[in-house]
Amino acid sequence: THFGYRDVPVAEKQKLVAQVFTSVADNYDLMNDLMSFGIHRLWKRHFAAISGLRAGDRVLDLAGGTGDIAALLLPLVGDSGEVVLGDINAAMLRVGRDRLTDRGLVQGLRYAQMNAEALPFPDKSFDAVTIAFGLRNVTDKQRALEEMHRVLRIGGKALILEFSQVRQDWLKPLYDFHSFQVLPRLGRLFAQDADSYQYLAESIRKHPDQETLKGMLEKAGFAKVEVRNLSAGIVAIHRGYRV
Ligand code: SAM
Repeated sequence: THFGYRDVPVAEKQKLVAQVFTSVADNYDLMNDLMSFGIHRLWKRHFAAISGLRAGDRVLDLAGGTGDIAALLLPLVGDSGEVVLGDINAAMLRVGRDRLTDRGLVQGLRYAQMNAEALPFPDKSFDAVTIAFGLRNVTDKQRALEEMHRVLRIGGKALILEFSQVRQDWLKPLYDFHSFQVLPRLGRLFAQDADSYQYLAESIRKHPDQETLKGMLEKAGFAKVEVRNLSAGIVAIHRGYRV
């Protein structure tokens, strides 16, 4: 009942990630709510609130999946702006488009299947690039950060919302218990899929912590990089500018 994720060659990882998200696409929202006690909605709302996006901005939401972030950003950029929702997975993209369309969100939205490591856009074409709970799944994260930097205009910003390293010692045992005992069981119970949620817990542990990711952003060329922890560092928001 294990992907052997830790041992797979890099080239295989993308296939595994594709399997995971194709497998969870339909249950994705329910699982997010169950796993985070609904708190992921607050994290996402906070992320949008501090994004500083303005009317008319053109935004790329990478790994946009089910469209949660796009739905929050769209009102900020207004009728004159645009949100491009990009995801590598066709099933996730389809679910996202259906959901946003059902909510009446059409104007100003575009969808495109893409790999964050090789963006199909010219240099300097966006005011902002966002990626929420997506960077963790990308095989070559440094490459993805460089791509985000490349497509940003001068003065544009990247915003990353991602699981990070818990900063409170008392929370760690609880968090580990939730990750490795509760999550796979929830996965089995509600999504008939314990493996995908085992993968989730492992991918969170392997993801670069606050300082490491900040360094990676700087290496990719970002300036004025700032980190903000939410929920004691369970997740963090990184922001950096192209100057
Ligand atoms: N942003 C959404 C949210 O916060 O609800 C969805 C996050 S979901 C956990 C991660 C998404 O990343 C999936 O939809 C997956 O298909 C996508 N993804 C994984 N690897 C990717 C890559 N290399 N390029 C673009 N998207 C990728």
